[in-house]
Amino acid sequence: MPMFVDHSPPGQCIFCRLVAGEIPSAKVCEDALTVAFMDIGQVNPGHVLVATKRHAVTLLDITPEEAAAVLQTAQRVARAAQAAFDPPGMTLFQANGPVGGQTVFHFHLHVLPRHEDDGMALAWPRKEPGGAVLQDYAARLRAALQDG
Ligand code: AMP
Ligand code: ZN
Repeated sequence: MPMFVDHSPPGQCIFCRLVAGEIPSAKVCEDALTVAFMDIGQVNPGHVLVATKRHAVTLLDITPEEAAAVLQTAQRVARAAQAAFDPPGMTLFQANGPVGGQTVFHFHLHVLPRHEDDGMALAWPRKEPGGAVLQDYAARLRAALQDG
């Protein structure tokens, strides 16, 4: 994961400054709610970030309209990356909170072209707790959905 961590206060963060044109970026496209630009770290060629124009920290802080716009922009960018770089795979990655791997605290989604043995890694420690536990987890989530 990136080592860079942005500790700027909300509204003055590095992506707010980038959206405002106060710092340079390699912009790919934008719409009313989102902007897509090259990730400065380029894990693979064509690595793009899709950010909300409005400052919001995590997935929980963006509006449904912003969420829809982010995925629509990501699909546009992914199609362009497929055409321009022809990668054999594509991964979308979106981190929330420091424990979730987020290092810039302004909502963004990575569109990352993938290649064999590109060094990208995400451990996937399966627990396989069984059907009864799955039913319990689902019931807790259904109850939370009704509360919300
Ligand atoms: P995350 O760890 O998901 O929060 O990702 C933050 C990403 O922002 C990293 O991949 C950085 O390379 C990228 N990044 C940080 N500063 C800039 C910048 N000024 N322009 C473009 N990308 C940036
Ligand atoms: Zn911001």
